[in-house]
Amino acid sequence: MPEYDYDLFAIGAGSGGVRAARISAGLGARVAIAEERYLGGTCVNVGCIPKKLFVYAAHYREDFEDAAGFGWTLGERRFDWPTLRANKDREIERLNSVYAGLLDDAGVVRTEGRARIVDPHAVEIELEGGERRRVSAENILVATGGWPSLPAIEGIEHAITSNEVFELESLPRRALVVGGGYIAVEFAGIFHGLGVEVVQLYRGPLFLRGFDDDVRTTLAEGMLHKGIDLRFESNPAKIVKTPAGLVATLEDGSQIETDLILYATGRRPLVADLGLEEVGVELNAGGAVVVDEYSRTSVASIWAVGDATDRINLTPVALAEAMALAKTLFGGEPARADHEDVPSAVFSQPPIASVGATEQEARERYGDVAIFRSRFRALKHTLSGRHETTMMKLIVDRASDRVVGCHMVGPDAGEIVQGIAIAVKCRATKAQFDATIGIHPTSAEEFVTMREPAS
Ligand code: FAD
Repeated sequence: MPEYDYDLFAIGAGSGGVRAARISAGLGARVAIAEERYLGGTCVNVGCIPKKLFVYAAHYREDFEDAAGFGWTLGERRFDWPTLRANKDREIERLNSVYAGLLDDAGVVRTEGRARIVDPHAVEIELEGGERRRVSAENILVATGGWPSLPAIEGIEHAITSNEVFELESLPRRALVVGGGYIAVEFAGIFHGLGVEVVQLYRGPLFLRGFDDDVRTTLAEGMLHKGIDLRFESNPAKIVKTPAGLVATLEDGSQIETDLILYATGRRPLVADLGLEEVGVELNAGGAVVVDEYSRTSVASIWAVGDATDRINLTPVALAEAMALAKTLFGGEPARADHEDVPSAVFSQPPIASVGATEQEARERYGDVAIFRSRFRALKHTLSGRHETTMMKLIVDRASDRVVGCHMVGPDAGEIVQGIAIAVKCRATKAQFDATIGIHPTSAEEFVTMREPAS
């Protein structure tokens, strides 16, 4: 008789939990998973997927406008929020069942309910109706993700977060977006594209901290030019509900009247009341589960991946950590997820994508760097008449000639930089970029034709 009910018990069926469970089961492990809210986790239900669908919806406005320069005359344009929401819900339901099928087909035992660790080898699940079930497992995986965090200002209960924004009953006429991270920037663009009057506030001097400065300024200029009222060094001090809507009083005393306030001011690991501290799992000052490079916590039988560990909070990173964990536990080869040169995109309008070091990081790390920068108007906009700047930038370590950073603001940035990320990961040199023939006419060809360093 095996000593434990399962070889692995995963808490949370989001990106990390599902991948770890599925791959582990495929490697022959006896696996169970508990999910208290929705299969697929944040990414599928209230993150990447519905967000990107909304970004597509929002971009049609510019596409329709741009069509005129190419000879098209379009009829009446009307946007219907309930249609978008219902179609998005249908797609998410389909994805939820795809996730259920993936787990079932792999032989993973699924449980709906909230799980809590009660000892290093046992989990208690609270099922619907209050019944509690205790199971034992040789290994326990914490893959519980993150949750939006809100400041404790007066009236904050009138604000919503990214959790609620996907289910709005109706689209507001005016929206105030608070925050300077990628989620705030993306929702400012979504609302604006759908015809909402948008004010975005960020308490710092420039949003998107951690991204290259040229990217940050190019996007800020672009958003202002599109008509988003973007204000830096501005922060609400209180929110009051009035018969006409909501009034945010800012720290400088000025007021903004609006119909909806979306806070996107950061996310915290969702690990409260999970029993971690009681069994001796160490958390850091930000509340994230502390893990080693194999995703093992301070308790040998408990592991953690994804946003709960607050390393790089992106779906593909959670997947890579989960994949490595399955190999370590059941594949007979200790494996680590590689957190170097992780590419990422912001689906702002225009979008951003980056891989590798920012200019500032590269100067600190390599000292002597060459910067190649190109700013231009995309070919399409010569006829559409749209004023939108594309910015592309390569950062090269002069000593090795290696391309150590690549950044882009402009249409299809995510699609383009995903390809460049392979070259950066393979430690390609600038000479190899230069030896690559461009695809003409594209914006992407600029990455292989930049010859004159800007500095
Ligand atoms: P999650 O996907 O959050 O899954 C955790 C699961 O655990 C949840 O389903 C939760 O209900 C469940 N759970 C928690 N506690 C318990 C418990 N005690 N018992 C049972 N179940 C529990 N990433 C990208 O790469 N690209 C993007 O474009 C992108 N856009 C985003 C947009 C938004 C608005 C947000 C919020 C996030 C976005 N992300 C994006 C981030 C991405 O969604 C996360 O990095 C990813 O989902 C993390 O996966 P995870 O497995 O760690 O956690």
